Amino acid sequence: MKDCLFCRIVARESAADVEYEDDEVLAFKDIYPKAPVHILIVPKRHIASIMTVEPGDTEVLGRCLLIARRIGEAMGFGERGYRVVVNCGPEGGQVIDHVHFHFMAGRRPARA
Ligand code: AMP
Ligand code: ZN
Repeated sequence: MKDCLFCRIVARESAADVEYEDDEVLAFKDIYPKAPVHILIVPKRHIASIMTVEPGDTEVLGRCLLIARRIGEAMGFGERGYRVVVNCGPEGGQVIDHVHFHFMAGRRPARA
């Protein structure tokens, strides 16, 4: 997807502070962090939103959650915990139309 910022980050055409990478998933620091640790975990393949997710997307989205666990443990939050958030669509606060899991840690959040 040419016009997608996160596809450009995956292709290394836009800069990002990468925390984790494998064949299917990239994780990088959020440029405007909303928590002491704020990392975005994205499938490398363009999937626009949970609102348009297809059966063939489930494996890579599940992998994103496994990576959230790995990042949490690697950064010392395996016991303390963290938030994993996905904003969906305009009223769900999704600004970038490439599915991303917000990994946020280091502060006790206000309850939703
Ligand atoms: P959302 O509102 O769920 O679509 O989240 C988009 C997130 O992307 C926001 O938290 C932004 O701070 C973050 N963001 C926007 N541009 C960049 C960028 N170039 N690199 C890293 N994170 C970004
Ligand atoms: Zn994309």
